[in-house]
Amino acid sequence: MVAERLDGRACAAEVESTLAARIMALKTKGVEPHLAVIIVGEDPASKVYVSAKQSACERLGIKSTKYSLVSDVGKEELIKLVQTLNADIDVHGILIQSPLPSGMDEIGLTELVDPSKDVDGFHPHNLGRLVQGRTDGLLPCTPSGIIRMLEWAGAKLAGARAVVIGRSRVVGMPLSLMLAARGCDATVSIVHSKTEDIASICRDADILVAAVGSPGLVKSDWVKSGAVVIDVGVNRIPDSNKERGWSLAGDVDPEVSEKASMLSPVPGGVGPMTIAMLMTNTVSSAEQY
Ligand code: NAP
Repeated sequence: MVAERLDGRACAAEVESTLAARIMALKTKGVEPHLAVIIVGEDPASKVYVSAKQSACERLGIKSTKYSLVSDVGKEELIKLVQTLNADIDVHGILIQSPLPSGMDEIGLTELVDPSKDVDGFHPHNLGRLVQGRTDGLLPCTPSGIIRMLEWAGAKLAGARAVVIGRSRVVGMPLSLMLAARGCDATVSIVHSKTEDIASICRDADILVAAVGSPGLVKSDWVKSGAVVIDVGVNRIPDSNKERGWSLAGDVDPEVSEKASMLSPVPGGVGPMTIAMLMTNTVSSAEQY
């Protein structure tokens, strides 16, 4: 068996095409959707992610404003910026690019964002709604992008056994809640670094999601024949064939493509979906305003 490639770029393009009409409708009412992006420090990967998000805004006609702050910016200045953006009626979405430099209270800062502008979906108000099974609000972008891609590919979710590797606030935990919520109706197991015999749990999965940050962790013998495998991991691995000296690899060993029925590639799988869902959240936020 050779797995069908879950083409996140194609799925994201469809999501974006549905946004075009909504953005047009907003503009005819005099509302220009506006995303504010805060980036702190010089992390090269974060700069790449921010520029991809800004390009998507430009492509769709969403206004974006970037606030680049030095890595040793004072806490007060950062708080003041968030408060100013909260109060600005022309700003509909506020994104704080993760990771913040070490020592900064990322969760505390997220809590200061107005929940109605929390397009990352990380505010306790929005995560709390998700815990209540309410999936109609601002949802974290990577998990909601994964669900959208699974639905788009026609993967059977209701009654399926799903295993999510990783329990982070950003991916693993909210994704597990979404998969288990009414509407998706999967039966979900979450595994993490302290789980014993991960491979045997993964082998039960109809849907297997790897969100770890460990290149090639998921081997072919972890995967049930015909399973749908989503690779969230983005890892830089040394690559002497590339001028820059590295290439990107996911958490799933490429040999899994011979066992799975569908597999999302890295790059070109979950990444574009994350951006498409950020755009969706920004438009939804502008519509609610
Ligand atoms: P994270 O916060 O570091 O969480 C990693 C999770 O993996 C933790 O729950 C950890 O367990 C678990 N883990 C670590 N080693 C493990 C092992 N050997 N076996 C099983 N579980 C293990 O990372 P994250 O933010 O969720 O991101 C995960 C990956 O996805 C990263 O590569 C990141 O770059 C990528 N990512 C991609 C996108 C995208 O749009 N494509 C978006 C977000 C993240 P403990 O909780 O026990 O420590």
